Amino acid sequence: MSPLGRVLVTGGAGFVGSHMCERLLREGYEVLCVDSLLTGRKVNIAALDGMPGFEFLSHDVTNPLYVDGPLTHVLHMASPASPKDYALHSIHTLKVGALGTHNALGLAKAKGARFLLASTSEVYGDPEVDPQPETYWGRVNPIGPRSVYDEAKRFAESITMAYHRAHGLDVRIARIFNTYGPRMRLDDGRVLPNLISQALRDEPLTIYGDGTQTRAFCFVDDLVEGLLRLLTFDTAKHGADTPRVINLGNSEEITVLDLAARVIASTESRSETVFEPLPIDDPKVRCPDLALAKRYLDWAPAVSMESGLRETVAYFKTEMGLVPS
Ligand code: NAD
Ligand code: UDP
Ligand code: UDP
Repeated sequence: MSPLGRVLVTGGAGFVGSHMCERLLREGYEVLCVDSLLTGRKVNIAALDGMPGFEFLSHDVTNPLYVDGPLTHVLHMASPASPKDYALHSIHTLKVGALGTHNALGLAKAKGARFLLASTSEVYGDPEVDPQPETYWGRVNPIGPRSVYDEAKRFAESITMAYHRAHGLDVRIARIFNTYGPRMRLDDGRVLPNLISQALRDEPLTIYGDGTQTRAFCFVDDLVEGLLRLLTFDTAKHGADTPRVINLGNSEEITVLDLAARVIASTESRSETVFEPLPIDDPKVRCPDLALAKRYLDWAPAVSMESGLRETVAYFKTEMGLVPS
């Protein structure tokens, strides 16, 4: 085994997971990528195939998972993540958050591995406080269409903390806020793939509601750096008060209308905007409080929206066949 360790990444063929696998390999870890390819794609990890230290296992983690050899870390990222995907795979989203997380924890416990859960800002629901600190308990509609994702992740956080308390498992939970970058699926329904592909086709940009709702967008390389720091930070150094849950994202909060204007500028598009109904329970505001990430991980995002958008637009141009790949 590599002296740094061997990391199992569930959901490693997805958007964020594939960047994470790549970064871990670059750092010198061995990586076992486990994915059912439900919303991920083999092409995301094509460049890693055949690299020393990289293995891919096609497996649905709602079923138990037994692997040979040691593991030092389990990074649990498997889950549909876009509102369109989790509406389409509603029951599976609940199962992967519940059964998938249980299996991933059981595996980490059996191997004596450290466990990191990719959770989400959606645990805060439609928040009454902005920005959201980790101490905020959230406002989730338990029976609304988004609840399949929100409640699955809340359960996943709860069982992760139960394994920590009951079994002494070394756990960390990243509450990830809106992240974007190359390898998002063009048709995943999230705001940036939609707006960028519309802008590149000079079609109207779809704004849901009046566009005054806010989000804050983190470039994927920044997120990966934050996840790596959370995975490796020395909790013993900070004693019993060490936080197990940390927000990761970008804190430049903007409206969806402002985002559309930035996409139009970045693509030099002639597109206009059209307004469509706001999805049920769409959060009105969302922005991370990053004080804990700064204090414990010495981490803050570094990539500007302008340069992150430039890279993402270039990726989508290639995906859409507008420039040679
Ligand atoms: P994604 O859909 O690209 O990746 C998820 C991956 O999980 C896919 O490759 C999919 O095939 C895999 N998967 C789903 N169910 C599985 C199962 N049962 N067994 C094995 N693999 C399975 O989404 P993403 O944006 O890369 O999100 C990755 C993780 O980060 C998710 O857990 C998501 O909830 C979390 N997250 C992402 C964001 C974001 O903005 N991208 C924000 C908050 C949280
Ligand atoms: N598990 C797994 N791989 C392992 C060990 C456990 O998939 O290497 C699964 C196991 O099937 C169970 C879950 O993880 O469903 C939790 O296992 P654990 O031993 O923690 O608890 P218990 O079986 O008591 O719930
Ligand atoms: N949105 C939009 N137009 C689109 C897609 C999304 O205005 O074509 C809005 C959506 O209603 C939400 C924000 O953009 O307010 C972010 O949506 P996304 O689906 O990317 O993620 P969310 O933050 O809601 O999980």
